[in-house]
Amino acid sequence: MTPDQRPGDFAQAMMDLGATICTPKRPACVLCPLRDDCIALARDDPQRFPLKMPKAARPVRRGAAFIAETPDQRILLKTRENKGLLGGMAEVPTTAWTARIDGETGAGAAPFTADWTAKGEVVHVFTHFELRLAIWHANLGERPVAGARWTKIAALGEEALPSVMKRQSRRLYLTHSRPAGEIMTTEIRHIVYDIGHVLVHYDPLVPFSRIIPDPEKRARFFAEVCTDAWNHEQDRGRPWPEAEAEAIARHPQEADNIRAFRAHWEEMIPMFMKIQSHFTSR
Ligand code: SF4
Repeated sequence: MTPDQRPGDFAQAMMDLGATICTPKRPACVLCPLRDDCIALARDDPQRFPLKMPKAARPVRRGAAFIAETPDQRILLKTRENKGLLGGMAEVPTTAWTARIDGETGAGAAPFTADWTAKGEVVHVFTHFELRLAIWHANLGERPVAGARWTKIAALGEEALPSVMKRQSRRLYLTHSRPAGEIMTTEIRHIVYDIGHVLVHYDPLVPFSRIIPDPEKRARFFAEVCTDAWNHEQDRGRPWPEAEAEAIARHPQEADNIRAFRAHWEEMIPMFMKIQSHFTSR
């Protein structure tokens, strides 16, 4: 389909067409330059496309996480290795799960002996697998633990905790031992999904036409690296440090462009830039 002449311009034109005219929900066929050759329009069924591919079943991985808590409300944290999934992020001690292998799930795998109590399970869905962590909790006195640190629960917001770890804390503190609100002081009550960009115009091409000038490289970046599925995980609450770490682990050679996605996110919403400049110019 790609022509021999100016294939880069062709790729850019296709992306612009898909972003502005042939949108999945509301294709503007009356404005479309391809309408004379479009089979979907000839069949009077343009909204049927693109066809959704059946989703591949996600493998399930298992492991255990251990929340050790002191009477003065500190919990034990450690920092993951810099490489691999969630590299460099903070976590409560967990067993050695990866995307390919399960970790142990019982209290016997805890970093030290204590009166560990089972607190249920937390499920976290990564792009390519589902992680089910058995949660264990123990009250104990502070003690030195190699490679770990005791952190005040009130200061957990300052730690680079991935969302799966935040869920562990919420599961424990909101349902078992503490009144709601002690940890989650800003509970989210309502979320508005702007499906189809009805309320807000969102366009990653605004900054990325500049950051990755080559149309083919840019198309590949959005198709394979910072994909819609990757970005939707942030909409669902995944923190940016975790998102960047996940994408960089898959495509380390694209690290600068992956970080640019967050750094230039505000530019992707032109209305935001207008509002910001309105208030900064007053
Ligand atoms: S005519 Fe075809 S290509 Fe053009 S907007 Fe409609 S469905 Fe899309």
